[in-house]
Parts: sequence; C-alpha cells; structure tokens
Amino acid sequence: MSAAVPNILRTASDIVDAGLAPRERLKTLEQVAARYAVAITPAVADLIDPSDPHDPIARQFVPDGRELQTKPEESRDPIGDDAHSPVAGVVHRYPDRVLLKLVNACAVYCRFCFRREMVGPGRGGLAPAALDRALAYIGAHPDIWEVILTGGDPLVLSARRLREVVRRLAAIEHVKVIRVHSRVPVAAPERVTAALVRALRSDKATFVVLHANHPRELTADVRAACARLIDAGIPMLSQSVLLRGVNDNRETLSALLRALVECRIKPYYLHHADLAPGTAHLRTTIAEGQALMRALHGRTSGLCLPTYVLDIPGGYGKSPIGPNYLSVDGATVEDFNGRRHAYAAADSSGANTTAVSNS
Ligand code: SF4
Repeated sequence: MSAAVPNILRTASDIVDAGLAPRERLKTLEQVAARYAVAITPAVADLIDPSDPHDPIARQFVPDGRELQTKPEESRDPIGDDAHSPVAGVVHRYPDRVLLKLVNACAVYCRFCFRREMVGPGRGGLAPAALDRALAYIGAHPDIWEVILTGGDPLVLSARRLREVVRRLAAIEHVKVIRVHSRVPVAAPERVTAALVRALRSDKATFVVLHANHPRELTADVRAACARLIDAGIPMLSQSVLLRGVNDNRETLSALLRALVECRIKPYYLHHADLAPGTAHLRTTIAEGQALMRALHGRTSGLCLPTYVLDIPGGYGKSPIGPNYLSVDGATVEDFNGRRHAYAAADSSGANTTAVSNS
C-alpha cells in the first residue's frame, strides 16, 4: 500500500505527486480531469497499491485516458433522471418513493459514475428556496412513502444541515422511510461522527445504503464507521456496481458480499454499470454478470446475494436481470448445480396443487 496521503487529491498533479499514477500519464490525466471531477480521499489513496498497474481501487478512482472516448450508446443522463424531475432536486420515477438530491458534490469521484456529468466540486446543491419547493412537493403527494437522499453524496453535508433536512422530512406524516445512499463511510469514515449519526435519526425508519465495490474497501475504520450507524439503530444495506477489472470474478464478488454481511450490511443491489460517458472500459456484458450471479447462487449464503439490476436507459426504472432458473414454459427449474428438475405448477384455476419432482 502507498504511504499515507495527508490531503484530498483533487488534480492530476496531486495524483502523480502522490505516486498513484506514473508521471508520463500526467497530460492524459489532466485532460480527463478537465472533463470529469477528480477527488481521492486519504482513506482511498491509502488503499491503492501503486506497484499494481491493475489495482482495483485505482481503477475506480484514478482517471483513465479511455474516459475521453464516448460511445454512441452512452448518455449524459443514462438513467433518465431529468425526465422524472417535477421540481429541482426531486426525481419521482416510482409511485411510492422519490429521490431527493441535496448536493452535487461527493467525497470521492468514481470513474464510472452514472451522474458524472452532474456531480463535482463547486456544482452546488439545493439552495434553501429550492429545498422548500422540493419538500413542499413531497408534502403534497401522500403516495410518497419513502424519500431517498442521494446526490452527489448527502453525507458530505454537515451534521447540522442533515439534521434539519431529516427533521423536516420526518415531519411529513406520510413519509415513513428515509433512505440515505452514500460512499462516505468508505471514502471518509472519519466523517461518520456521533453528531452525524444523531442527525440521521428520527422517529421514521432510516436506512443507510453503502456503496462499496471491492472487499479491500471494508477496512477496520470503515467497519467501525458502519458499526456506529448500525449500533445507533440505523440498518444498513449495500449497493455495488459490477465493474470490469474491479469485482468481475467470483472470488472478489463473494469476498465483498460476505464481508458486507459480516459487518451486518445486507447486500441489496448489484448494478449493471450504466451507459455513462467514457465508461465502456469498466462495463461487463450482462451475460457475464448473470454468469457471476449463477456462480454465487447456492455457493454463497442467500444472505449475501444482492439483486442484479439494470437501470433501463431513458428513465424507465430498475429491473432485475436474472439469471432465470425457471424454463420459459415453467415446466422445469434449474438447481445451483445446473441440473434441471420437472416442476408441476399450480393448475389454471390457481389452486394450490404444486408439486416438485426430480428428473
Ligand atoms: S459517490 Fe456516487 S454520485 Fe459520487 S461520484 Fe461516486 S458514484 Fe457518483
């Protein structure tokens, strides 16, 4: 591992000077950094092995010249947030929940980010009047059961600001659940202070969803930060992005998912990487993702298994993308060893006459 890096690395020169990329790449790194935001925190920099040209942590955070190549199928808004934004800061895609984007900054900037065209330092966040309008929208829509704080990364905000937002959301009677999506416990575990944990608590159920992609991200400090949240009564889930060269093999993915469960964090989603600009080198195929899920099924505890999902380009929402174990006609189902078994389904009246037989 590299020597401890004292400050956040925000420029190509910072990254080269810290020894996280060779000097001959400086010009390319500068071109990428001029296009997409860069930030690597000390906690993340310390995870990178500069002697490994294929380091899975560096791949996620150190800019790469291939980011300058945009494919025709890639889009600045790959999951279609804009099409479902009734007021600034709110994305209302599904009937019972909304995203509330409080801030456009993050502690680190991931090279595969699906909102990479929207996030960055100095991109600001919701101004007070816009936050008032967003909360008024939520308050006026009684079907909104859950509010998901996202961004950017909401946990870069001060405990005082978070407490204020949580308090105002909790005061909306029909909002029953507040969910916070964050990479901060990995990127800057020291930010998960007692004050921040208190700020997230309210009389509504609050969940924190951790974004982690590689088992090395779950350091002792990160585990302690997550334990502070969980011990305070805030259950945690995780989301990971399937990334080529980072976690696209069974051993790494299994180690990540098991480590999360050992930290009392339930793996929730494995995202197929979105069609964000300049990220083709980090995407796998869906067939590769399905093969990985198949390899995990039955050999890794069900507690560890996330749902493999694709955010449908255009804003149509997430859908589980398999693999599927039931034959198209429902007559056979595959077990975790790849053997097919006949399945006699319920009759057409829906009566409960199911039976399973081994072939
Ligand atoms: S923390 Fe999330 S929003 Fe921020 S750069 Fe990474 S993936 Fe994008």
